[in-house]
Amino acid sequence: MKHLKKMNRSKKASVKTALLLALCLMMLFVTACGNGGGSEAPAAPAETGDALYTPGTYTAKAMGNYGDVEVSVTFSETEIVSVEIGEHIETPAIAEPVFTRFPAEIVAGQTLAIDMISGATNTSRAVLEAVEDCVRQAGGDVAALKVASERQASTETIEKTVDVVVVGGGGAGVAAAVSAAEQGASVVLIEKAAALGGNTMRSGGVYNAYDPGRQGAVEMTSVLMQQLDEILALTPSEHGDFADVITRLQAQIAEYKAGDTSKLFDSPELHAYHIYVGGKRTDLQGNDIVSKVELAEILANDALAGIEWLESYGLEWTDDISTVLGALWPRTHSNVKPLGTGYVGTLAEAAQEMGVEIMTDTKGMELLTENGRVTGVKAQQSNGTTVMLHATSGVVMATGGYGANPEMRAEYNTYWPEMPLAMPTTNTNDATGDGIVMGLGVGASLEGMGFVQLMPSSHPETGALSGGVWGSAEEQMFVNKEGKRFVNEYSGRDVLAAAALVQEDALFFIIGDQNTSGNPQLGGTNIWGDSIDTLIETKSIFKADTLEDLAEQLEMDPAVLVAEVEKYNGYIEAQNDPEFGKKSFGAKIENAPFYATPRSPSVHHTMGGLEIDELGRVLNESGSPIAGLYAAGEVAGGVHAGNRLGGNALTDIIVFGRLAGASAASQR
Ligand code: ADP
Repeated sequence: MKHLKKMNRSKKASVKTALLLALCLMMLFVTACGNGGGSEAPAAPAETGDALYTPGTYTAKAMGNYGDVEVSVTFSETEIVSVEIGEHIETPAIAEPVFTRFPAEIVAGQTLAIDMISGATNTSRAVLEAVEDCVRQAGGDVAALKVASERQASTETIEKTVDVVVVGGGGAGVAAAVSAAEQGASVVLIEKAAALGGNTMRSGGVYNAYDPGRQGAVEMTSVLMQQLDEILALTPSEHGDFADVITRLQAQIAEYKAGDTSKLFDSPELHAYHIYVGGKRTDLQGNDIVSKVELAEILANDALAGIEWLESYGLEWTDDISTVLGALWPRTHSNVKPLGTGYVGTLAEAAQEMGVEIMTDTKGMELLTENGRVTGVKAQQSNGTTVMLHATSGVVMATGGYGANPEMRAEYNTYWPEMPLAMPTTNTNDATGDGIVMGLGVGASLEGMGFVQLMPSSHPETGALSGGVWGSAEEQMFVNKEGKRFVNEYSGRDVLAAAALVQEDALFFIIGDQNTSGNPQLGGTNIWGDSIDTLIETKSIFKADTLEDLAEQLEMDPAVLVAEVEKYNGYIEAQNDPEFGKKSFGAKIENAPFYATPRSPSVHHTMGGLEIDELGRVLNESGSPIAGLYAAGEVAGGVHAGNRLGGNALTDIIVFGRLAGASAASQR
């Protein structure tokens, strides 16, 4: 894959730049972006004594995660003028923050003192090593560039007054910005990274919604019917605030059962019920947590409208319905764009058309208040420029979670027996809980902070979701290093992660065949754009024509794996798993080639955050709204309680981002 990106020194934090970056991010997955970048012949060495470099463009390579990453650097006599990323086979979604930020930071700071990006350290190191090589070729002083630059900090202050300020440019932030602009509000969105996207951009891109149209084609199964029967047997009054949801749901199920039951049943009430059962947890201190019913119902009721809203801005959806891991019911939707690019790209473009000002490289530092009302945000750019943003209607906090803040994770954790600081994460390293800290500064109440969701099936080294092959949750079979199943693979994510953590080396393998592994094709890619061939070469996945051979590659007893797969296939045939109670099954694992993807848990979604009400207003410790402050997305708590369903994060950011943006704008 060819990927090129160029940043030059005149970069300004402006909407143009932000859009270019957003577009580049979108294009990362499909084509080259930026300067076409053929190498120029270096010019003759500089003759003046002040020259730092021999001007020209130099190219070098260094080993990344999967192979060489090529970099071209252009120098003038005194400056690094541009850095371009060339050929590489890194995972696009993981490498993207490195490829976006490193060129910008190296050029802006004239420095090689750049922090590695967690989850992408090998790619980070490769880019830095290759740039160092180019600096050496140009006769520059690598050691001097590695000393953290002590540039003169800017003393400039930018001051702006608008109706709504949005802090954070992931999915929730861009949704809030568009929604506020739709109401006629003037909007500024600030993003601390060099590009929009956050974790949304690197997510799997799947979205849960009750959708009678697309779900109308899905067959009902006896196993799913059994789950409906279990709901009919519930006593609603034993389920607290969800009693009313369950009563309504029971009436719907009874009506459904009286008619044609050949096609799938679903409703917003069933989705809300799944949020409730999926999120209900008890922590190590015996405290119970359940979702706020009004928030669960908003998510479930408005999910389909969110799809239609995105469609109205041009995002195309497929008709496929699946059950992403931990989603509990077939209501998972996909759009035609890779990963989360469709959400961020579509809404960033809409925001620009509506006149939203997007300021990247602008980090929200603290909330401004007047007489107890939040009136704006003080922010800072990396060159030291202060940005004072005054919001006459409201500030929407959309800074994402704290998955990349190990200290915050450990400080609040009340759920996992251990929360090692070194546990890898699927998150970008910008997910540091800034919005939570800013909210605390104005007296916000926090909800659910003890609960962090671990992604059970992450790459054992990078912590990333990518780098493997598998099908829908029903189709996945997990085995440990001995080749033995150890869990119901259709369980919630925390059940899966807890089960995985107690296996040897916290390691397991997702076993599948050609039909149950997402149909990988040699020479093709998985959904993250990883080349299947490269994944095999780098042992990120294993492929074999027989299960015996697969077992040998995995260094397990072939007889054990073969017997285990046979037993599991028998459970599929009987639609009954007496060992682990799996209830939803896919096809048998029997068609060569067979695949195994090694996996281990990593930190994924942080459940806790600013407590919000049904208008997206942030509440204080006494339960009253803090005037002028709204929150949406992962920074907010209370929606998913102790465990978020797979596929509900993107629904959350779209539904609550829209809601918070409109609420803030309504105060004009
Ligand atoms: P969500 O899914 O809730 O939208 P994301 O992780 O996708 O969360 O997006 C959150 C965005 O907020 C990220 O792009 C992150 O860089 C940005 N962000 C985090 N902290 C700040 C801050 N202090 N100021 C501005 N942007 C921030």
